[in-house]
Amino acid sequence: MEYSTRLNAITILAAALLGQAAAAAPGQSDAATRTLAHDVFKQLIEINTTDSIGSTTVAAQAMAKRLLDAGFPKADVVVIGPNDRKGNMVARYRGRAGSTLRPVLIIGHLDVVEARREDWSTDPFKFIEKDGYYYGRGTQDMKEADAIAVTDLIRMKKEGFVPDRDIILALTADEEGGKSNGVNWLLQNHRDLIDAEFALNPDSGGVVTVDGKPQTVEFEATEKLYADYQVLATNPGGHSSLPKPDNAIYHVADALGVLQKFSFPFELNAVTREYFGQMAKIETGRTAEALRSILATPPDPAAIQRLSQDALYNSIMRTTCVATMLGGGHAFNALPQRAEANVNCRIFPGHSQEEIRLQLVRLFNDPQLTVRYRNDAGELADHGSDRKAMVPPPLRADVMDSLRKVSAKLWPGAPVLPTMVAGSSDSIYTMNAGIPSYGINGIAIDRDDVRMHGKDERVKVDSYYTGVDFYHQFLEALTTPNH
Ligand SMILES: [Zn+2]
Repeated sequence: MEYSTRLNAITILAAALLGQAAAAAPGQSDAATRTLAHDVFKQLIEINTTDSIGSTTVAAQAMAKRLLDAGFPKADVVVIGPNDRKGNMVARYRGRAGSTLRPVLIIGHLDVVEARREDWSTDPFKFIEKDGYYYGRGTQDMKEADAIAVTDLIRMKKEGFVPDRDIILALTADEEGGKSNGVNWLLQNHRDLIDAEFALNPDSGGVVTVDGKPQTVEFEATEKLYADYQVLATNPGGHSSLPKPDNAIYHVADALGVLQKFSFPFELNAVTREYFGQMAKIETGRTAEALRSILATPPDPAAIQRLSQDALYNSIMRTTCVATMLGGGHAFNALPQRAEANVNCRIFPGHSQEEIRLQLVRLFNDPQLTVRYRNDAGELADHGSDRKAMVPPPLRADVMDSLRKVSAKLWPGAPVLPTMVAGSSDSIYTMNAGIPSYGINGIAIDRDDVRMHGKDERVKVDSYYTGVDFYHQFLEALTTPNH
């Protein structure tokens, strides 16, 4: 994903369980599943799916072939897309005949961020096992999850498992960038193929451990909305030996000074309320007390103030806007004719980009300034979109129960925690299409080992196979009739 709060870690317990493969309990990987999981993962890592020179079509076709070879009917597996390099794979695992339940959709992006051989210790497009890790671009984001989904569908098929509803898997293009976002394209052009009651997106979520101890199992239940704004002042300028108070740089600097001291109002929603409530049980002392106090009615302003000092808590409590770029002036000895700053905002669900733009205009209260919305392509517009970031959907009982049940088995004692992610993933498209989406992932990555988009991306070997078991058990729990 574009940014992630996946603060995962090694799961000692799961590693210990996997060590006893001979005595594997039902639902744990058998040797054949492990081999399949390994081979699918290796195959995906070694197909270059970057936007520059790669192809998601090749990866989509490879996964389609795996499913067809495993006995999926031809009519239920398609590779489809806007051009020959940006293909998406959609497969349907048939549920119980006559089921009136609408499908569950799993989405996973096949594309990866660029990676240069000279930056890495190993070839980023070779699947390498070393020191208990698998290395390669996409081992954390998110070919591990794509491989797990394909492996588990094949495994369930072999077992003859019949879910109580169809399970649709969509492996797609251009989440990380590019012009052909697969989820968006499928929703626009072939909604029937992926229409579902709700969606799972393993691009976020995961297990967090501290000092090797599983602490929380996080899942993403909502996202903030991203927005950039240009704050611009222009001025006739003149000779710097004859300064005037009206100066483009001062106008922008004053505005940023106001922004620095400003906080958007404290807000809660169903997801953050549950998150803070759980964190109050995990944290101790004054932090725990403050967490309880912000959940009171009315919330305690001193507690809000205290938690706002923590950047992570602050980001979950409100819309944030911060200056990220600054420029102005054209000569050492001239009054500036132009000054501008970029203000980057992460908008709390329920508000629009235009609403926040107008709030900035009111906050700066300076007719010499213009505040314009800057889109993803860098183009400026006088107005932002009025589209509001979706208020989070209710936490579904079937999803929560299944997640809690399987987590308690694999990571006992670690509470399941819904999170609001400050970045964005493809869930933004499914959510906006009215398909409630949940970021659920069973991979554990060390808290200090988040390497998404970075060099030497890697995932623990044991963590990967635990992830294979997790999704298998989770999907079966979720779609077992009368669970
Ligand atoms: Zn991702």
